[in-house]
Amino acid sequence: MHNIPERSLKIEVGEMIGNTIGSVIQVADLEDDGAGSEFLRVRINIDISKPLLRCFKLCTEGKQVGWVGIKYERLPNFCYWCGRVTHRERDCEVWLWGKGSLRKDEQQYEEWL
Ligand SMILES: [Zn+2]
Repeated sequence: MHNIPERSLKIEVGEMIGNTIGSVIQVADLEDDGAGSEFLRVRINIDISKPLLRCFKLCTEGKQVGWVGIKYERLPNFCYWCGRVTHRERDCEVWLWGKGSLRKDEQQYEEWL
């Protein structure tokens, strides 16, 4: 989870956001990633039949304080067309329906994932 305001860099915030994505297994100790980092590393169990969430609106006391970017590590498969991890892009329905007419830059998901 990137782009988190410094005062929200807390284990509880990682758990709160993580639990909207799936179920949190563990939030990494902030110390482990070095001081001054602006991200939280969270291990989460996710429902792989759904597209992955790319960002999260962070609110405190009802006010939006920023957008949290979410990146994923250690995905065995990932489809950049539809954001699912159940297949690779060549096997994607979105890709197959497009009959090869889709271009890379039309993908909803980018390599930074
Ligand atoms: Zn797909």
